[in-house]
Amino acid sequence: MAADPQIPHNPHYPHLFAPLQAGHLTLPNRILMGSMHTGLESAPGGHAKLAAFYAERAAGGTALLVTGAFAPNMDGNLSPARETMIDAADRDAHRVIPQAVHEAGGRILLQLLHAGRYSKHQNAVAPSALRAPINKITPRAMETAEVEQTVEDFVRGAMLAREAGYDGVEIMGSEGYLITQFLCLRTNQRDDEWGGTLANRMRFPTEIVRRTRERCGKDFLIQYRLSVLDLVEGGLTGDEVITVARAIEAAGADILNSGIGWHEARIPTIAHAVPRGAFAWATGRVKQAVGIPLIASNRINAPELAEEILARGDADMVSLARPMLADAEFANKAKAGDRAGINICFACNQACLDQIFVRGIANCLVNPRAGRETELVYRPVKASKRIAVVGGGPAGLSCAAVAAERGHEVTLYDRAAELGGQFNLAKLIPGKREFGESVAYYAERLRRAGVKTVLGKTPGEAELAGYDEIVLATGIDPRRPDIEGIDHPKVAGYVDVLSGRVTPGQRVAILGAGGIGFDVALYLAEGSGKAQSDPAAFAKHWGIVEDAASVGGLAAEPPRPEKPTHQITLLKRSTTPFGATLGLTTGWTLRIELARAGVQMIGGVRYDKIDDAGVHIAVEGAARVVEADTVVVCAGQEPNRALAAGLEARGKKPHLIGGAKLAAELDAKRAMLEGAQLAAAL
Ligand code: FAD
Ligand code: NAP
Ligand code: SF4
Repeated sequence: MAADPQIPHNPHYPHLFAPLQAGHLTLPNRILMGSMHTGLESAPGGHAKLAAFYAERAAGGTALLVTGAFAPNMDGNLSPARETMIDAADRDAHRVIPQAVHEAGGRILLQLLHAGRYSKHQNAVAPSALRAPINKITPRAMETAEVEQTVEDFVRGAMLAREAGYDGVEIMGSEGYLITQFLCLRTNQRDDEWGGTLANRMRFPTEIVRRTRERCGKDFLIQYRLSVLDLVEGGLTGDEVITVARAIEAAGADILNSGIGWHEARIPTIAHAVPRGAFAWATGRVKQAVGIPLIASNRINAPELAEEILARGDADMVSLARPMLADAEFANKAKAGDRAGINICFACNQACLDQIFVRGIANCLVNPRAGRETELVYRPVKASKRIAVVGGGPAGLSCAAVAAERGHEVTLYDRAAELGGQFNLAKLIPGKREFGESVAYYAERLRRAGVKTVLGKTPGEAELAGYDEIVLATGIDPRRPDIEGIDHPKVAGYVDVLSGRVTPGQRVAILGAGGIGFDVALYLAEGSGKAQSDPAAFAKHWGIVEDAASVGGLAAEPPRPEKPTHQITLLKRSTTPFGATLGLTTGWTLRIELARAGVQMIGGVRYDKIDDAGVHIAVEGAARVVEADTVVVCAGQEPNRALAAGLEARGKKPHLIGGAKLAAELDAKRAMLEGAQLAAAL
């Protein structure tokens, strides 16, 4: 990258903060906020909320933003809810969004997405009448005239976006949606001019781009999201992806974004099972072949990683979507070299993507304000109070940080030697290493807000009673079920195993198959976590190959599981499917991993006793023994409110948050949110 003497050199991340010419726009840095559906698109008053949401990210220094998906016609809607850009009413409703972003100093594109066979409504259409494995609805094959009309609908959507004030559009050509369905033989079996040869199949996206350019003019950015790696059988080869990229460039696109994997791919692409930056190589392969700027995406969540990808020459820009939920100020902080001040997205999907799948609103586990910009407002306090927060897990960290930033005088106590609570165990699970980033971030935030942190101490009731407000964020105690033999020496708690106090034997029985039972099984099955932290090991583990001739980027042979180190049996009393309580978008990966590790799962059990042989159970009345050298108890948790009664006896009413309030169905999302909500109200 040639240095321009007019442009100040950023000493921290020089590539990331070098300006970029994309079409008619000169972007101040290389950070794109990638498209994310937020659930606000069709919510009442949603456009005003979206305007506030995007404006905050633009003010945070993001060079270019992309909205969530809007369909160019009714058939293209993802769900029965109307999320479209098809007429003047849509256009007028959208105006607030680009206006707010422009006022905040940013630029924004509208994403046009036709869902094709992924549509969850009865009018689903596709190149051919082939049902997607992840959809119950079989689409109708589009008539030839309908294909032509759909191209025109995209162009109309772009023109309306222009009239609404958007700086351009992103045409969604990845993730298995309609455009990708036209491109691949897997889904396109047409015999008209829109099917057959690759030249015919790519006519659909190239015509959309060509006509959009023709009608919208040169001063309107056309970004095309290209599937650089399909990860499905019958997908494009790497060579074919390059052919498509060149054709899209020739048709008039200004910039290419990358998409990885179709939604129906059986390989994780964004979850925490994916190492950071794991797919940048696939973007790099296209970079050599095109002249327009190219954007890398997926699991890019830290400025040093973004810098590395740009410096290596894999891309010209990076797309961060969920990291922008986690921290709206990501770009400004990175620019100032304030890495420690960045709230890192650890790819849990719990508050964002998992919510979207149940038609909820996307928020963020580590940043409860995301998506609640107009509701959860942290106003400076008029009168400062002395506040004690007991417990430095997610609930206490979140509460102490917000309360102190609002102007209260906060002391945080934790009996442990370090902050973080259960996150210090979670971070030991393969794929969850980055939970530690969150603890470090909050610790730094407490330091900056002037919170007095007292570690290694359980405060006495008398000491606490001297505060104006007392917050008990003391979490949980693991449940010890009442089973004969529970005190047998081979029985261990999950804390004992994860902390290394107990080394399990070869045969392990796990009592309880909730989130922690699954995590402990994964920990024992894949102790090194290499496949979740090293891109090469990840690719090998999931059967991804870089060979440009391979179809969909998949190995010819499915990956062979390695010999498991432990013989694991996961037990539970209920008869519901195993893993039903896991994250919607991450649980399937975990189930695949455990199946590959040969983990036995037995539900509907009655625990009779534990002895030298193992765990004696009965299933549908039939007794049997699960032989085990070690029995690990993961049987849920009880709230720890040991301090509450004593305080109440002194006339003090403590606030309870997180596990201390309610252990059932507790997760860190609820814990952090309750901490922030309480602190906003104190
Ligand atoms: P805790 O994290 O339990 O924190 C309570 C704190 O209070 C502790 O630091 C403790 O030392 C301190 N404390 C207790 N009593 C006192 C006292 N008397 N004086 C001073 N200090 C005291 N959740 C998710 O959402 N997603 C996940 O992927 C996930 N994975 C997990 C994996 C594992 C292995 C584990 C163990 C948990 C996981 N969780 C996950 C659960 C999540 O960590 C908890 O829901 C969350 O930590 C609860 O937060 P909390 O602040 O209420 O309690
Ligand atoms: P959990 O999800 O509630 O699971 C508890 C397990 O213990 C269940 O399988 C339950 O199944 C069993 N159980 C409950 N009472 C029992 C008893 N008296 N005797 C024997 N078994 C009993 O709780 P958890 O696994 O401890 O996890 C705690 C929280 O952390 C969860 O709510 C979860 O949200 C969060 N977490 C999330 C993730 C994630 O990936 N998102 C990962 C880890 C933890 P039966 O009743 O069927 O036996
Ligand atoms: Fe990232 Fe989890 Fe927040 Fe989603 S909820 S943005 S995945 S940290």
